Parts: sequence; structure tokens; C-alpha cells
Amino acid sequence: MNIHEFQAKELLRQYSVPVPAGSVAHSVEQAAAVAEELDVSRFVVKAQIHAGGRGKGGGVKIAHSVEEVRAATDAMIGRPLITAQTSPQGQFVRRVLIEQAVDIAREAYFGLVIDRASQRITIIACDGGGVDIEETARNEPERIVREAVDPAVGLLDFQCRKVATHLKLGGKQLPAAVKLMKALYRCFRDNDAVLIEVNPLAVTLDNRLLALDAKMQFDDNAIYRRPHISNLRDFDEEDPKEVEAGAHGLNYIALEGNVGCIVNGAGLAMATMDAIALHDGKPANFLDVGGGASPEKVTNAFRIVLLDKNVKAVLVNIFAGINRCDWVAEGIVRAMRELKVKVPVVVRLAGTNVEQGRAVLAQSGLKFLTANTLDDAAAMAVRATSGATAHEHIHK
Ligand code: GDP
Ligand code: MN
Repeated sequence: MNIHEFQAKELLRQYSVPVPAGSVAHSVEQAAAVAEELDVSRFVVKAQIHAGGRGKGGGVKIAHSVEEVRAATDAMIGRPLITAQTSPQGQFVRRVLIEQAVDIAREAYFGLVIDRASQRITIIACDGGGVDIEETARNEPERIVREAVDPAVGLLDFQCRKVATHLKLGGKQLPAAVKLMKALYRCFRDNDAVLIEVNPLAVTLDNRLLALDAKMQFDDNAIYRRPHISNLRDFDEEDPKEVEAGAHGLNYIALEGNVGCIVNGAGLAMATMDAIALHDGKPANFLDVGGGASPEKVTNAFRIVLLDKNVKAVLVNIFAGINRCDWVAEGIVRAMRELKVKVPVVVRLAGTNVEQGRAVLAQSGLKFLTANTLDDAAAMAVRATSGATAHEHIHK
């Protein structure tokens, strides 16, 4: 799960990580009020979306008066912001963060991630940070250092000093850097984070260290025990189909293709996507309906898959072990009737009660394409996508 920059900074404040003074605003009026209260001569107006690259995309603006804060906010809120990390249509901006602007002497990069290979929280740091970090990583990889943390003892001072020295932080900055890094580590560990990225970690003209930007991601599998984190979830930033699928206990991930997939079991769902690709098709989604696929679940699965207007055919692939093919078939029939499904539906059933399942489909009077093997089913579904397109053209 991702959170917004303003939320991440509020969390960081609780850990005494220095961040600029500021607050979130949902409207031009609120932005002006925040600016008045800050009572400084320079402000930064930052679009709050779950995507980076805002600096280069026009989502970070310096303002020199409350009037300029109003203008910058007005230009951001209520519009999509397109950055290198958003979709081509951009991400709709609903709020901005208004902060006191700081005078930056230098920008560094500091991140904490979980390194799966070593199974350790690992620091990634670079003495050159800011909006060009991707280029630096590509062209000068030697400038990036890593430091793994032993979970038994936690992040130690000498490790922080080593990283700080690499970041060319010396003198009074050194103890400040150690304190900041240890606080970030605590924040990471205490909240089951999987990523904390501070870019830039700014050195100010008056020699302070400041987390000028903060990106945080949390472990979805641990979120149940962190209600103060799950409360920060912003559904507006997520694919509505994925949100709805989650609410119905379905494992759905939206993709770019046109073959909708309804499958039981994650492994079989992956294999189904592979089979579609093998026949030169593209899956519109990954969907695992799980073990006990009740008629309600199957209906919900159809509804969510068909919310995607790119879907030109649906492939239902059920291998029933614990499941029963006849129950799944009843679900399919019910979904087809309730939702008045217009695209071709290919069904491949195998396993427990397969004959009864096929009978349910045959007796429904509805039109299905049926296949006995996954390979046949995938080929049929891919072929059906072009059929559906031709069909549509005739209707137009
Ligand atoms: P991102 O592009 O989405 O990662 O957004 P950031 O929060 O990192 O902001 C992008 C850039 O804006 C930073 O790298 C800074 O150079 C600049 N910036 C952000 N806040 C300030 C500020 O308070 N003062 C100055 N001078 N520049 C800032
Ligand atoms: Mn940044």
C-alpha cells in the first residue's frame, strides 16, 4: 500500500525526522489559509498523487506570496497531472501540500528497502539526489551505496556514519545524519514498511538536513495489524476494479489486453495468461477467484472483469479440486443472465463434477464456447476477440 507525501511526512514528524513546515490543502481557500499560517516569504506547492516525477511534470511549484500559492494550487487541483510515473492520461489531483520553501545547498538520495536476496532491510544512498536520480543510477552506478541491516541488532551508528560519509556529510551534519537515518529505520521497522524513499534528502544553505520528499510503501500482508497505516489508504489513487475485487475477496490485477480471465488458483491463472500469450493474445487481467468459488463470487468476478471496456472475450478456466464444476457452472449461468454478457465466453471446466457442470451450461440455453483443454480454450478465446470486434463493427 502506498501513502501520500503529506501523510508520510506527518508520520516522519512523529519519529523526529526533520521535514519542512507545512500542511495539506483540498482547495484554493485552504491552501491560502495554510500559507497565511506558515507566515513565510517563499512557499512550495506540491501536487499529492501516488506517483513521483512531479518536479519535472509541473507538480512542484515555488510561490513567493499567498496569491502565488492560490494560483499554483488552482492550476493543480481538479486536473490530471502527467508525469513519467503516471499513465499517459495522468493522475487526477485532489489535494496539494503547502510547505515553507527551503534554500537547498545540495540534494542527496536516501532510501530503505527490503532486499529479498539477503532478507534484510537495506539502505540505498547516493550523494547526488533529486529529480535526476534515475539518470545518475544509470550512468554512475558507483555513486550508489548499499548497507544491509542485521535484524538482530538493528541499524548501528557506524553504519550510518559510513553512509553519511559517502553522502559527503561531515562535521555537525554527521550526528544529525546518524539520528535521521536511525529514525527512518525505526519508522520503517515499526510500521511494516517495504519502502521509504527520501529524495531529495536536502542539505540546506544553513547546514541543516531535511527530508524534502518522502515516499512510503507498506506490506499489504501486515497491514491488518497497522490500523493507523491502513486508515491512510486513498482509494482514489487505486484502480477501482482492483478495489472492488479486493472487497469481494477476489485477487484481481488489471492489465492491458482484451481477453478477460476468470480462473481458480493463482498458479492456474498465471498459466492461463501464458497460454493466451502463446496464442498471440493479451490477457486483460489476472484474476484468481479462489477455492470456494460460490455463484456470488463468480458473478462478482464477471462483473469486475467486464467493467474493463477493452475486454472482447472472457475465458473461464476452472480446475475443480475442492471446488465443484456444477456449482461454478451455475455461477457462470447466473452471471451471464444477470449481467447480460455480450462478449463471447469460453469455458473450460475440469475436475470434480465436470459432467454435471457441462450439463448445467448446455441446459442453460445460453451460448458458450466450450473447450476441454487449456490450450484449446486459450486459442478459442483469442480467436473470439477478433470475432467480437468484427461483430461490433457490423452493429455500428
Ligand atoms: P518529485 O519530483 O515527485 O520527486 O518531487 P520532489 O518533492 O522530490 O520535488 C522535486 C524537486 O523540487 C526537488 O528535487 C527540489 O529540487 C525541488 N524542491 C522541492 N521542495 C523545494 C524547496 O523547498 N525549495 C527548493 N528550492 N526546491 C524545492
Ligand atoms: Mn522526490
